Amino acid sequence: MIITIKKDADEKNLESLIAWIKNQGLEVNISRGEFQTILGLIGDTHQIDVDLINGLNIVDKVTRISEPYKNANRKFHSEDKIVDINGVKIGGGHFQIIAGPCSVESADQICFIAEQVKKSGAKLLRGGAFKPRTSPYAFQGLRGEGLELLTEAKKQTGLPIVTEIMNASHLPLFENVDVIQVGARNMQNFELLKELGSLKKTILIKRGLANTLEELLMSAEYVMASGNEDVILCERGIRTFETATRNTLDISAVPMLKKMTHLPVIIDPSHAAGIASLVHPLSLAAAAAGADGLMIEVHNDPDNALCDGPQSIRPEEFEKVSADVQKILKIVGKHMD
Ligand code: PEP
Ligand code: MN
Repeated sequence: MIITIKKDADEKNLESLIAWIKNQGLEVNISRGEFQTILGLIGDTHQIDVDLINGLNIVDKVTRISEPYKNANRKFHSEDKIVDINGVKIGGGHFQIIAGPCSVESADQICFIAEQVKKSGAKLLRGGAFKPRTSPYAFQGLRGEGLELLTEAKKQTGLPIVTEIMNASHLPLFENVDVIQVGARNMQNFELLKELGSLKKTILIKRGLANTLEELLMSAEYVMASGNEDVILCERGIRTFETATRNTLDISAVPMLKKMTHLPVIIDPSHAAGIASLVHPLSLAAAAAGADGLMIEVHNDPDNALCDGPQSIRPEEFEKVSADVQKILKIVGKHMD
């Protein structure tokens, strides 16, 4: 529930309204703007008599909000959230590219790719150690060893690392990981989300293959309600009737999410299309649509990659994507720094 206070409301009456609300067992999020003060009531507001509050002379209007997400709601946080990962900022005008292979395969592979993408402007390194594969017979990732190799690449390049967790019991292995990724298939693993909410690490949540934006925000809400506000959302393509691409990039998710939430929103064009040649145009589209970043799969030898070779671009192609994205960023007033 949102209570909009009249512009010249008496401060004493406002204070007593706030005290009364708190007395009802609710939390109040007070947003004082230049023209309006807004009270966001957090908790079960069913027992609140809307007519009673509407009748107060300091109240302009009372709106029952239907969105079940409060912490992730733009209505309570007009300012863009800026997530800071060891000095690398995402959101609020800061645009970043997370790049690296689908899977960590060897020390040479991950360190070489890390150096290459860093040269072209990537500020974060990705690489899967625990891989969610459709087939149990496919390469499952180097698991603990993969995390060690990522740590090695981080030491060598200084790039913070982003990698996926599939099971909360693996958390002790993630100590050196800077951004923990929740993959599309785990977006609604609520117990995992709650565990991640108790950490002081950035959590990157990828949209599920068949999940709505509201469901994605409810997943963010799980992490935030458990105390961790450092959440980044990622649109990575959804299932549609189209079969020409691996998934369908929902580009409108970017401006829509920007309305719904203050959290940073990034695009993963690699999993969205599943086709390396589409990564360049979709990356430009993402930047133009207002995304705060990209997550791109880059491999030195896509033909022999152990996972997702067909959608992986080579370091020299990545250089071009990064350069062209920066041209778009100038137009939309964002920067990679
Ligand atoms: C990935 O980023 O490696 C991945 C598996 O992505 P998604 O969860 O979006 O399929
Ligand atoms: Mn992949």
